[in-house]
Amino acid sequence: MRKIAVNVCRLVLAVAFILSGFVKAVDPLGTQYKIHDYLTAWGLASVVPDFVTLAVSVVQSSAEFFLGICLLFAIRRRLVSLIVLILMVVMTLLTLWLAIANPISDCGCFGDALVLTNWQTFWKNVVLLAAAIVVRRYPLDMGRIISRSNQWIVMNYSAFFILVIIAGRSLYTLPQFDFRPYHIGTNLREGWQRMIDGEDSPYAEFFIESMDEGEDITEQVLQDKGYTFLLVSPHLEQADDSQLDELNRLYEYSQEHGYKFYCLTASGQRGISRWQDITGAEYPFCLTDETTLKTVIRSNPGLLLLKDGVIIQKWSHNTLPTAEETSGPLEASEIGDLPSDNVASKILWILTWFVLPLVLLTVADRLWAWSRWIKKSDNNPLNNEQKIMRKKIVAGNWKMNMNLQDGIALAKELNETLKADKPNCGVVICTPFIHLASIAQFLDQDIIGLGAENCADKEKGAFTGEVSAEMVKSTGAQYVILGHSERREYYKETPEILKEKVLLAQKNDLKVIFCIGESLEEREAGKQNEVVKAELEGSVFNLSEADFRKIVIAYEPIWAIGTGKTATAEQAEEIHAYIRSIIAEKYGQAVADDTTILYGGSCKASNAPELFAKPDIDGGLIGGASLKAADFKGIIDAWKK
Ligand code: PEP
Repeated sequence: MRKIAVNVCRLVLAVAFILSGFVKAVDPLGTQYKIHDYLTAWGLASVVPDFVTLAVSVVQSSAEFFLGICLLFAIRRRLVSLIVLILMVVMTLLTLWLAIANPISDCGCFGDALVLTNWQTFWKNVVLLAAAIVVRRYPLDMGRIISRSNQWIVMNYSAFFILVIIAGRSLYTLPQFDFRPYHIGTNLREGWQRMIDGEDSPYAEFFIESMDEGEDITEQVLQDKGYTFLLVSPHLEQADDSQLDELNRLYEYSQEHGYKFYCLTASGQRGISRWQDITGAEYPFCLTDETTLKTVIRSNPGLLLLKDGVIIQKWSHNTLPTAEETSGPLEASEIGDLPSDNVASKILWILTWFVLPLVLLTVADRLWAWSRWIKKSDNNPLNNEQKIMRKKIVAGNWKMNMNLQDGIALAKELNETLKADKPNCGVVICTPFIHLASIAQFLDQDIIGLGAENCADKEKGAFTGEVSAEMVKSTGAQYVILGHSERREYYKETPEILKEKVLLAQKNDLKVIFCIGESLEEREAGKQNEVVKAELEGSVFNLSEADFRKIVIAYEPIWAIGTGKTATAEQAEEIHAYIRSIIAEKYGQAVADDTTILYGGSCKASNAPELFAKPDIDGGLIGGASLKAADFKGIIDAWKK
């Protein structure tokens, strides 16, 4: 239930971040204008240069998209959920201020694609904040859909896509999706006429006033049945003048063919004269509202072609019509017609070049993971005789050894070694609590599981010095050793205490490695079977079948732990078979066949192959020999022999 809730929240956040990042990245200049609005509200507009606001626009929108993708694929779950929570706290506070003070009418969180009121935005953020809290609380409950080893492909591909293909391309050309009321195909004349008739219309600020005669020529321009080029520059002072020859050529072209050509700007006479001096422009200039011009085209300058009051083409100054395209009259040219390129084909392009590769990668990754899993089961020496699915594990128990630095170095060495030479069994390292969070950051947990050596028998509260199962889980660990003989003996852990610990560990999704085993006196008195049975009955036989299936048993004769004395392979097999038989009595043969039972006690590379060859021994819990990567690897490799 909790997992479902976390994953629903993760999906809601992922969709919101991807959409909001995308619609902003597709229109970097629009986002920059919005940032400028915020700076104006804070009185900072004049101190922050334009290139900074543009960089912030691109980085912010791309980062939002990227975080959304990470959430969707459950990549770097803890870090991403923390960043998302911080962002949501900041955004919720910011939008609360916007809703109360109302300095800007639309916060711009979905660009021009979806305009929300400030209060709607605030409540939307409250919902997303709640989802971010849930996801941050249980980040590891987010189900992975790509393995760690392949997630870098998703990260790099998504970053490249949003930064270069979407934001970069939109900046160089024009936004690939135009959500404004001046997109290609808009009948400007009809929209403007509705405004004149007193209807609600987004063209209220649209006017064209001739600079020469000082008269409003909007109607004249929009009623014209022929072609009209509108060169749009909100500010001529800031306009890019690299294409001045091309602009002059286009003006001459329009003169030759009898098309109208106006430059619309909000600049005053000084700006116009300066532009004329620099470019030699001879075309007429008209005054238009600055915000309207910025809305009409996201390029300074940009070129727009009107025919019969309809916008049929738009070009940024980087992609002006070429001499070849304008070699004949527009009536006979491709650019003189409304382009067939529509929204559906753009969406299809994104599906083909972004969504499809990621879907294929995910499917390939899952198939690969699945085939590895099958292969692992096939390498199981027992599989030749009987198809038993239980997992083979070699787990290390570091006990109270290794300071943080040495522990990290050992875990890193092991990580590299096993990445280079993949094990044929599950590998787990159980470390002191203080190592867990640091090691979890780099350990490839598809290859090496991480576990604690203990956890508290209380959920939380005033238990100074204790570490709860939830805390262990929150470090990124997946396992916990419980019932080790050293804890039973030195810390007086009783079956009842262990029963509580097992329940709490499972409640927090930790896999329990539950230790049982007899002392020397008990062995000498022939009581070993009795002892292990009582230990199982006292702490884990209360579990439901489903929960018991999650337990790994470790049989560790106390007399063999750290003494150099190993139980013979036959002795170990005999009691492992007995343990399996009592599990079968309690839960049935199928559960018994699936339960992993490890052997522990002075297990080394030299005796591991003989022990692991026994049908009821499914690996080892290793103490001393897990403190050196080479020794531990030697035991792991016993599964390759
Ligand atoms: C252990 O304590 O779990 C253990 C098996 O130790 P060693 O391998 O050192 O005997």
